[in-house]
Amino acid sequence: MKKIIDEYPKEMRALVLRDVGDLRLLTVPVPELAKGSVLLQIQACGICSSDKERVFVTGTYHFPTIPGHEFAGRIVAVADDVDEALLGRRASVFPMLPCRECDACKTEQYAQCSNYNYFGSRCDGGFAEYLVVPVWNLVPFDDALPYATAALCEPSAVSLHAVNIGNIKKGEKVAVVGTGTIGFLVAAFAKNLTDQIVICGRSENKLAYAKKLGFEAVNLTDEHCREQILSITGGDGFDVVFEAVGSSATIERSVDLAGTFGRIVLLGNPKGDLAMDKNIYWSVLRKQKTLMGSWNSSFNSSANDWAVVVDWMKNSDFDFGQLITHRFSLDEYEKAFELIRREKNKEFLLKVMIEIGDEG
Ligand SMILES: [Zn+2]
Ligand SMILES: [Zn+2]
Repeated sequence: MKKIIDEYPKEMRALVLRDVGDLRLLTVPVPELAKGSVLLQIQACGICSSDKERVFVTGTYHFPTIPGHEFAGRIVAVADDVDEALLGRRASVFPMLPCRECDACKTEQYAQCSNYNYFGSRCDGGFAEYLVVPVWNLVPFDDALPYATAALCEPSAVSLHAVNIGNIKKGEKVAVVGTGTIGFLVAAFAKNLTDQIVICGRSENKLAYAKKLGFEAVNLTDEHCREQILSITGGDGFDVVFEAVGSSATIERSVDLAGTFGRIVLLGNPKGDLAMDKNIYWSVLRKQKTLMGSWNSSFNSSANDWAVVVDWMKNSDFDFGQLITHRFSLDEYEKAFELIRREKNKEFLLKVMIEIGDEG
């Protein structure tokens, strides 16, 4: 038995990845409710830079798969063992489905699970009209928050997690290398802890946008940028540097910008092998810099980045919706993915959002 608020159709529209580069809008069956789960009518799903890789370069774990892991929607049906009070509620979704049996899961370190499933890469995800989601994965939010903003919960939780790892103390000097959505989100969370933040990137229009949002911004293609950046810190380098790109050049730059005893938080996903200049490496040893990795987000009973993010979206001065630069309907998916695919520094875009439901 299941409980529903509105009748929902048996079929739905979804973006189905059938092979690398072969993404199509198809009609597929609405998934069946399972024990402990709800049916989410998806209203918005963001395109992640990892989706660009999945769709055009690497593919998903198997075909066909519906991609999309940054989404939010409305609960339209619940399984008979699930609290009816969830009907009609809005929710974002922690996209990882941990095994709950490995050592990491036993200590609630779900992002470290050795045998997990994942919405939008290992199993079907959010570029669809409906998705069955276990209650455990739901991150409810109230009606005042727009769905598209709530669909930013995933990159926001990833960014907040990195900021927590950086352990910024009041007044510390912070640099963010990278001007993607994650770079902006890291800067937004860090701003709550210190006013001394510099965003570094290569795209003039993204840096101009960073300035518009109130951040100091420096262009890394500028030949005097190193001096310019270090002059901001009085020449001793930054206390914390967040690397949100994942290339050799930006990792070297991040390590170089960190001062003595500086911490470098790495959260950019590399696309290939990496190398480091010998002198930069020496600076890690001589200046006792610390390289710290940040992966995914915390979602457990003692640390829940997602709950903090929802609270921030509701209460902070920073308007997360400003990071959505493009919105498309499901029908316009080709335009949306084409925009992402040919993204060059010239074209200004941060988060591209697919708005799916009628309430999106
Ligand atoms: Zn993502
Ligand atoms: Zn596990």
